[in-house]
Amino acid sequence: MNEKIIVSKFGGTSMGDADCMKRSAAVAFKQNSKLVVVSATSGTTNDLIELATTAEKSTWESAHLIFTKIQVKHLKMARDLEMTPEQIGDLNGLFEELESMSRGVHLLKDCSLKALDSIQSIGERLSSLLFTQAMKLYLRSEKSKKEAKWIDARELLITDNQFSKARPMTSEIKNLCQKYLDPKKTADKIFVTQGFIGRTKEGMTTTLGRGGSDYSAAILAEGMSADILEIWTDVAGIATTDPRICKDARAIAEISFKEASELATFGAKILHPATLLPAVRAGIPVFVGSSFNPELGGTWVKKEVGDSPLVRAMALRKKQILVTLSTPEMLYSHGFLYQIFKVFNDYKVSIDAITTSEISVSLTLDDSTLLNRELLLDLEKFAEVQVEENLALVSLIGNNINHTAGLAKKIFDSISDINVRMICLGASKHNFCFMIADAVGAEVINRLHLTFIGLGETPRKTQ
Ligand code: ADP
Ligand code: ASP
Ligand code: MG
Repeated sequence: MNEKIIVSKFGGTSMGDADCMKRSAAVAFKQNSKLVVVSATSGTTNDLIELATTAEKSTWESAHLIFTKIQVKHLKMARDLEMTPEQIGDLNGLFEELESMSRGVHLLKDCSLKALDSIQSIGERLSSLLFTQAMKLYLRSEKSKKEAKWIDARELLITDNQFSKARPMTSEIKNLCQKYLDPKKTADKIFVTQGFIGRTKEGMTTTLGRGGSDYSAAILAEGMSADILEIWTDVAGIATTDPRICKDARAIAEISFKEASELATFGAKILHPATLLPAVRAGIPVFVGSSFNPELGGTWVKKEVGDSPLVRAMALRKKQILVTLSTPEMLYSHGFLYQIFKVFNDYKVSIDAITTSEISVSLTLDDSTLLNRELLLDLEKFAEVQVEENLALVSLIGNNINHTAGLAKKIFDSISDINVRMICLGASKHNFCFMIADAVGAEVINRLHLTFIGLGETPRKTQ
């Protein structure tokens, strides 16, 4: 009988130090993973971004301090994992590359998205070398005949050239996965590769956007026609809301692709929003669990699930803005929305929720959009633009949401003293979302959780 093909992704906390890596290696071995996709060690991507921006804007000495911090942290892990001088030489090669790139940014006083992607790629490239060694140690301790083999994700994950949020090219990736990772020809191998990074056809390093390792793993799982995609993190599965916000959050045993996609899109950090697209396309069930306590089980995300509750979960997306565009020209005319969306399309900015009235349209966006002055200036060519900041988007995720009487009353009764800035209902039967002030976001989630989910068991934060 053919063995199941399992792709396992481990996030930053699961790569936190040598012990975390060893624990994750044990999980990968026990799960019989064929391909392990790893994130940078916890906090390293943030450090690399800080290194790049400091190199661009400040003195070389202050940038170099951040470089040294990254170097010291990874060399300590290398010692703890008993790396050979040759393996440490590979890490040193990456440190040299990082130092040269940062130096270049400093001298030019220019950190393009292209440069930033190459700098960020060092995080996953370092952690994957370290994790390959952790895997080798574990295989040795188990006297396994299998071999851990490091592979450069950029040989597989071809993308377009939208630096910082590159889009994978699925058919090229499929061909490369079949060429390099064919399970029939590589039965004795466990492959280890990097999440988050890719390469253009011309050979430039790209990244898929923050938190993108989940997405990489899903894309590679699709490329390999895997049977299961596993996402190993620091909580035992997807919970009814972020356990960091609400102590009553409890793990969900099963959730449909549609509900989980809405949850991820509307702010649940546990999954990168695009993760489920390839899984849905290829019909691959996704398991989410804790590498710290795999025995606690986790959540299965699948096409069909046993139950369809009205409210399964809720998410909070902080740092949102509401942009209202008003013009009398919208009255009885057509083409206005087309013009507006064209501007957003030209700047590749994605809109989350929309409402319209007679002469205005309100859109919710991530507050990073404010950095894009040209976009706002372009919008001002069509309409008066009003921006409200410091907002948060709350979403309730479930089933039959747009066909259930009394739901809105129950929601707004529980937060009757809180001003609701915008409501979006109707587009999806799985989602009801609205905007409130960022400052009351956690309070609103806690009240809604109490109303719709109730008091929980002990949260499954497992670290
Ligand atoms: P990783 O580094 O493993 O990718 P992340 O920090 O990106 O991990 O995602 C895991 C975190 O997601 C959890 O620690 C938790 O705080 C947060 N989170 C947000 N919403 C949820 C949810 N609904 N269920 C579980 N965790 C959630
Ligand atoms: N290391 C990247 C980040 O921190 C990607 C990931 O962890 O998924 O965003
Ligand atoms: Mg993540």
